[in-house]
Amino acid sequence: MPTIFTKIINGEIPCFKVAEDENFLAFLDINPNAKGHTLCIPKKEVNKILDLDEETYLGLMSFSRKVGKALEETVDCKRVGMSVIGLEVPHVHVHLIPLNEMKDATFQHKVKLSNEEFVELAGAIGSKIEKLQK
Ligand code: AMP
Repeated sequence: MPTIFTKIINGEIPCFKVAEDENFLAFLDINPNAKGHTLCIPKKEVNKILDLDEETYLGLMSFSRKVGKALEETVDCKRVGMSVIGLEVPHVHVHLIPLNEMKDATFQHKVKLSNEEFVELAGAIGSKIEKLQK
């Protein structure tokens, strides 16, 4: 049974896509801790991050760094935090969370965004990545 994230990769479930390359995908978390909360995933379906082969693990970190830097420049925040949990979705994902206060990192404080806000944010972060790469 494919994970919900594999279904997103395969286009069976929609997402607010931020960035994609051959091996990785970044999209907005649908139930964000803070505005801009983004998930970075490997296209390879693996449950736990420490079970990734080293090349995919390092590739995921490099991809997440690129997305995180763009996120930090797009959203008003003190810094972007990274965490890996995986208790809900058994498909490796790195949470990139814009942080202003400790509660933003707790997963117990959520913000509501409209469809338009999700679309706008995903586009803004994505185009910042392209600018940073030039
Ligand atoms: P965890 O597995 O505990 O690290 O959390 C999984 C995260 O995935 C949660 O923050 C969810 O809000 C998020 N999530 C679950 N389903 C979707 C989806 N279809 N699109 C975007 N984010 C999702």
